[in-house]
Amino acid sequence: MRDQKFALYEQHGLETLLASDRYKEFSREVADMILAEAEKFAVEEILPTYEAGDKHDPAVFRDGKTYAPKCFHTPYRKYCEAGWLSSVAPPEMGGQGVPISLYIACSELFGAANYAFVMYPGLTLGAAAMIATYGAPEQIDKYALRMFSGEWSGTMCLTEPGAGTDVGNIRTSARRLPDGTYSITGTKCFISAGDHDLTEQIIHPVLARIEGDPQGTKGISIFIVPKYRLNADGSLGEPNDVVTGNIEHKMGIKGSATATLNFGENGNCIGELLGQEREGIKVMFLMMNEARLGTGMQGLELASASYEHALQYAKERIQSRRIEDWSNQAAPPVAIINHPDIRRSLLWMKAHVEGMRSMNYFIAGCIDRERIAATEEERERMAGFIEILTPISKAYCSDRAVEICTLGIDIFGGYGYCSEYPMEQYLRDVKIATIYEGTNYIQALDLVGRKLGQNKGRNLMGLFGEISGAIAKLKLRDELSPAAAHLEEALTATGNLTMRFAQWGKSMDYVIPVLNARLFLMIMGDIVIGWKLLEAAGIARERLDDLYTEAGADEAKAAALARDNADIAFYQGKIASAKYFAANVLPTVGARCKCIELADKTPVEMAEESFSA
Ligand SMILES: Cc1cc2nc3c(=O)[nH]c(=O)nc-3n(C[C@H](O)[C@H](O)[C@H](O)COP(=O)(O)OP(=O)(O)OC[C@H]3O[C@@H](n4cnc5c(N)ncnc54)[C@H](O)[C@@H]3O)c2cc1C
Repeated sequence: MRDQKFALYEQHGLETLLASDRYKEFSREVADMILAEAEKFAVEEILPTYEAGDKHDPAVFRDGKTYAPKCFHTPYRKYCEAGWLSSVAPPEMGGQGVPISLYIACSELFGAANYAFVMYPGLTLGAAAMIATYGAPEQIDKYALRMFSGEWSGTMCLTEPGAGTDVGNIRTSARRLPDGTYSITGTKCFISAGDHDLTEQIIHPVLARIEGDPQGTKGISIFIVPKYRLNADGSLGEPNDVVTGNIEHKMGIKGSATATLNFGENGNCIGELLGQEREGIKVMFLMMNEARLGTGMQGLELASASYEHALQYAKERIQSRRIEDWSNQAAPPVAIINHPDIRRSLLWMKAHVEGMRSMNYFIAGCIDRERIAATEEERERMAGFIEILTPISKAYCSDRAVEICTLGIDIFGGYGYCSEYPMEQYLRDVKIATIYEGTNYIQALDLVGRKLGQNKGRNLMGLFGEISGAIAKLKLRDELSPAAAHLEEALTATGNLTMRFAQWGKSMDYVIPVLNARLFLMIMGDIVIGWKLLEAAGIARERLDDLYTEAGADEAKAAALARDNADIAFYQGKIASAKYFAANVLPTVGARCKCIELADKTPVEMAEESFSA
């Protein structure tokens, strides 16, 4: 939480945001109180479900019914009653209008406690917000309000057995009925929280094609399909012919029921149009974009939890002598945190976790600032950051989280591989984040194919301009100037590469950008993380100078001061993260850019037969 508060207040200026008219009810004291309550709820209510919901009490499908883990029921009810589900919803929808920045910090605590649990309220919130934005007033009354309160839950139904990445290929169909509703027929698979017993009603936003509408994404509409039809008085009526085929047996997030749903097997499934006909993708994108940031957060949350455990273990596990005592058989074994390779691994994890937190909180801050922007220019600037950083957050944080959770297991040695400790579960639970909400390749394609040139390249230039501005300031600080130089070199190489991408685009030579999209996204992620870490280090440097003065000490006594003063230790740690990242990750950016510029096409040119080993 110390680093959460740093990212919120010290780095991204939450207090300035709270001073705005829209958020004036949330003082720093109120925000701190909300965070403290979130931590308490995460630790006391959600965390106890982490192991049980995975190992002894996962979601199950039995005799045609789906059951969420039994241990989820009480925390789910309390979560809704405490108003966590609807905290970001506007007051007129029963919410509290909490800024996204603050919400995301709370959600980090909840997700780190058990991501499978938060998927149920998370999807409900996303579906409710979509209905609140695009629904007719009676749809908002009928559905969204009862979802924000947690009485009913929600899902997002895109994927079909034959249409995963290629959403435009969906087969689910909708037939207009005389009363203005639609008869829905089709099968959706992999639907998170698709069926369960936490709520008696589940509202499914379903992508389907109205009979006669064109093929591809342009012909897709979206429908509200409740599990039970509603009587005229709003009470639950007969089942709506939405039948669960089964739920998946998965590698991780076993507490989340991932269902196959058959709509209209008996020709009796009724849906209501949400928004306009053939605008389903546009409407669903509201939920998808939020879900993508949520998935980036999932990466951060589990990576952070894995790091915290690894750090604790490294301080406790006694094994082997210090490297200095290698030839001295009589020297005592020490805690493994004393071994250079463990320290390197820990610092790699720490730097990435902090950088990812900072990036995600920055995006959340941009969402808040876009809402309160005083000028169109400012609104556009914020929207530009959000557009370009959303696919980076989703894919970078999930890919790096898999690496971080793997390193976490390594630090535990054999124990990390065993289920006695939570480390293997973190890796299993986080892996899905690279796949759902659009695979990481799809995020990379979005970045390369759409976001680089979006708004005539102004979004990218805005981001690069911001980073260049930060570099110029950091170069003036002696201690951070070498690190700033590494960032500058990496940024220049990446800037040059984006020009090459533009040239390839102009000459319609898409092979290299498409082939290297994932590499490029990770390069961009490293640049953003490097920027955020260095920016944080600049702030930490100022705070340290003040703290040293207060303590009447100087840099020479830094290590001793860190032992007794938690703030000094924290700020020194921020500088260490930035310097380490700058010296060990950023210099690889230039080499990776060069690899892409070499324009090697071997993977696409070799014969398919030659892939056999
Ligand atoms: C646990 C879980 C929960 C999920 N929750 C939901 C949910 O709530 N709602 C929902 O609608 N869906 C959900 N999904 C589905 C998920 O979004 C899809 O699995 C994902 O979009 C990929 O689709 P697919 O599995 O069909 O893979 P495919 O589309 O078959 O892709 C297989 C591989 O091929 C690659 N690929 C595909 N097309 C291309 C291309 N043109 N160029 C290069 N590479 C390509 C992909 O990147 C991937 O690596 C969930 C999935 C899981 C496993």
